[in-house]
Amino acid sequence: MFSAFLIKYAEIGVKGKNKYLFEEALVQQIKYALKRCEGEFKVTRTDGRIYVHALSEFDYDEAVDNLKTVFGISGICPVIHVEDEGYEKLAQKLVEYVDKIYEDKNITFKVHARRARKNYPMNSMELNMELGGAVLDAFPEMKVDVHHPDVMLHVEIREKIYIYSIEIPGPGGMPVGSNGKAMLLLSGGIDSPVAGYMIAKRGVKIDAVYFHAPPYTSDRAKQKVIDLAKLVSRYAGPVYLHIINFTDIQLYIYEKCPHEELTIIMRRYMMKIAERIAKENECLGLITGESIGQVASQTVQSLAVTNEVCTLPVFRPLIGFDKMEIVDVSEKIGTYETSILPYEDCCTIFVAKHPVTKPNLNVIKRHEQNLEEKIEELVQKALDTDELVIVRW
Ligand code: ATP
Ligand code: MG
Repeated sequence: MFSAFLIKYAEIGVKGKNKYLFEEALVQQIKYALKRCEGEFKVTRTDGRIYVHALSEFDYDEAVDNLKTVFGISGICPVIHVEDEGYEKLAQKLVEYVDKIYEDKNITFKVHARRARKNYPMNSMELNMELGGAVLDAFPEMKVDVHHPDVMLHVEIREKIYIYSIEIPGPGGMPVGSNGKAMLLLSGGIDSPVAGYMIAKRGVKIDAVYFHAPPYTSDRAKQKVIDLAKLVSRYAGPVYLHIINFTDIQLYIYEKCPHEELTIIMRRYMMKIAERIAKENECLGLITGESIGQVASQTVQSLAVTNEVCTLPVFRPLIGFDKMEIVDVSEKIGTYETSILPYEDCCTIFVAKHPVTKPNLNVIKRHEQNLEEKIEELVQKALDTDELVIVRW
């Protein structure tokens, strides 16, 4: 029965030129999300509002599900269009609408009319009164409540007349593409896909890098990361995933450095390489799924030592999250089931029994000097293995 959606968005502080970019990016993301749906749609921007018009038959649930993945949308209001055939017809259509949508009439309501076209013969006050009266006449069980109605019946007078009263919550945030691009260090775990989701939610486009260590990590582990990138791309748009062979670097560190420092030194090289790829691809920051204290390599001291190699800002949106809170988000966004599949991860393979939890930067740097001979060459070689996979939902 619905023929359009009114898209609500709310980001205070988005003004001037930024508001234009915000809306433009939002329209693009809505179009992109609707391409996945059956049916044809037109997305328009009029008087500071975004509408999605269905130009053909479409699957309502599918359209709503896809709109719910578009960051920047705060609410999705399904709308019906009525031809302007005079007040009597409008009152009749509104009554029919109420009857169809609200089976249980034991509700309070208010009519909220808005005249976007000023040549309509009644003003908004008159429309509110008259249409409210018409609804009450039709359904005496219903009551008017002007302060806290259960249902707000919106009637907008435009070329056609729009009626809506339902608002389905959107994901909030800002449209992807409105806030630059960053490079996500994506592993097969629970955390990093959630981290990518959260930064994309702030309007940041996401590229990703995954370090694998064949033959110590399998093709299935790699496929799992591609699958996770795909799940993230449902919200974040197409993800350019760089797959880097990290085996030789890992083996070299294993050979030359104290084993309890292996993880932290390895993490420093991951960050360094990620930063190189980030800079080559116009990414303005790095993103990780780190959270303070979660494991030895994420104590405050370890994070400081890891961070020291980076010149780009590192975004760690999960930094203050407990594991349970991260799991909740991963379940909500649909990455959890894939994340818990039991494939090995290159961090876990060479893990020491007692990794350092309070690394000292000077000590770490001293031990890294053991790598001097070959490490630059190995880093370059690793960069040369870059396999780019473009992942889309
Ligand atoms: P996750 O659940 O995201 O795997 P984790 O709890 O296993 O995180 P670590 O293994 O310490 O934590 O990794 C910390 C962060 O480093 C990850 O969230 C991710 O951003 C990055 N990272 C770890 N391993 C890899 C990898 N193989 N490739 C790319 N990034 C990685
Ligand atoms: Mg991990």
